[in-house]
Amino acid sequence: MTARRKLIAGNWKMNGLKADGLALASDLAGRVNGAGATAFDLLICPPFPLLFPVADAIAGSALALGGQDCAAKTSGAHTGDVAPTMLTDAGCRYVILGHSERRADHGESDALIAAKAAAAHAQGLIAIICVGETESQRDAGQANAVVSGQLAGSIPAGATAANTVIAYEPVWAIGTGKTATPEDVRAVHAHIRAELEGKIADAGAAKILYGGSVKPSNAAELMAVENVDGALVGGASLKADDFWAIATSC
Ligand code: PGA
Repeated sequence: MTARRKLIAGNWKMNGLKADGLALASDLAGRVNGAGATAFDLLICPPFPLLFPVADAIAGSALALGGQDCAAKTSGAHTGDVAPTMLTDAGCRYVILGHSERRADHGESDALIAAKAAAAHAQGLIAIICVGETESQRDAGQANAVVSGQLAGSIPAGATAANTVIAYEPVWAIGTGKTATPEDVRAVHAHIRAELEGKIADAGAAKILYGGSVKPSNAAELMAVENVDGALVGGASLKADDFWAIATSC
């Protein structure tokens, strides 16, 4: 099996002001620096206004920085949007795209997510493309079909294992405390792994993250599942102790 290094990504969502974000980021950077060689890469994705100060606070550490979204355009008259170049300018290496909250709150389509990912790739960003079914879709037996459709529509031409990470986040498990069972996760991740053939160059090396109520108490079990190459963590990424406990359970 291809060895894939784990990626533990913290999605802060719309949480925290500058003082909170700086304290959390500095705490994590200190832990990363003190840990020496780790079995994982650690990433934080703060809200946009915190990117520059957080980048300064973690400068020189191996803690990576990412955005939670970006525009499909590089500049111009797009009020409220943030270009991929602005993310790289702020020190980001990653960007989360197509999170279910953006798909739901902002009506983002697979085609838009693919365009954003292509724009991110053009700036050298690694796109973390999120997919996942709702509870009613799962109950109707459509989980794999929904995920297949999202993968087919959201992964742009030119995607490689180096520039694209997939995050499987069942919508019913996000922020609900309900976690998919290891067997649910194993089945969908195996399905995604097969689906990536032909969509991502060097598909066997592409990382597939699990997200949805990952916490210290379930992380080790989930991270041990075949084809789970890390976690996309929301709520538990806002506490340094919890996020670090998840990462070190790899
Ligand atoms: P959660 O969020 O860990 O709070 O469930 C995960 C996510 O939405 O990325």
